[in-house]
Amino acid sequence: MESTKKGKLFIITGPSGVGKGTILEKFFHNNKNIIYSISQTTRNPRPGEVDGVNYFFVTREEFENSIKNNEFLEWAQYSDNYYGTNKKFVLKALSKGIDVLLEIETQGAQSIMAKFPDCISIFLTPPNLDELEKRLRGRNTEDEEAIQKRLNQVREELKLAKTYKYSIENDLVENALQKLQEIYNTEKNEKRF
Ligand code: 5GP
Repeated sequence: MESTKKGKLFIITGPSGVGKGTILEKFFHNNKNIIYSISQTTRNPRPGEVDGVNYFFVTREEFENSIKNNEFLEWAQYSDNYYGTNKKFVLKALSKGIDVLLEIETQGAQSIMAKFPDCISIFLTPPNLDELEKRLRGRNTEDEEAIQKRLNQVREELKLAKTYKYSIENDLVENALQKLQEIYNTEKNEKRF
């Protein structure tokens, strides 16, 4: 079992399209003492996404090499692509006493929760599946097959909602943001022995 030492490890997870990105952008704007762990992915950048900001966009070969070299704290395959969290980056920040937030899908979240039992896990739920489907379609970045795959995945992910320390319903961005802020304010000052 690994220890988080001084910094605190936050995970935010939840179905794709649930609005994690929008909430987190505002959250990081308001909170400068916690850092975002930029993941590696093999998926193509969406319009507006920047390499090294949203993700490190890599080839499958590069990703598989990183797996072999044990460079990930966790990694997962999601909708035909790989996603992974850089181990060195996260452990270094935590050991320096810096709080880190991972925005990852549920398999990765479960794996981190097993390795770091004292991490602060937050599950963001969509108000309902119809709304989520609308958002995924509205994004206009995936074809029908990819959307169906993601919706099936969501149904599975929702079954695990109860295993997280906190659950936030994303009905309105402002409400969800406020709840996330409250969780952060409480947890960042919490002492561990
Ligand atoms: P998207 O392709 O929509 O950016 O992300 C798809 C899913 O992958 C999202 O649920 C996102 O949270 C998750 N994800 C992003 N980075 C990582 C990572 O490093 N590890 C894991 N396990 N999931 C990730």
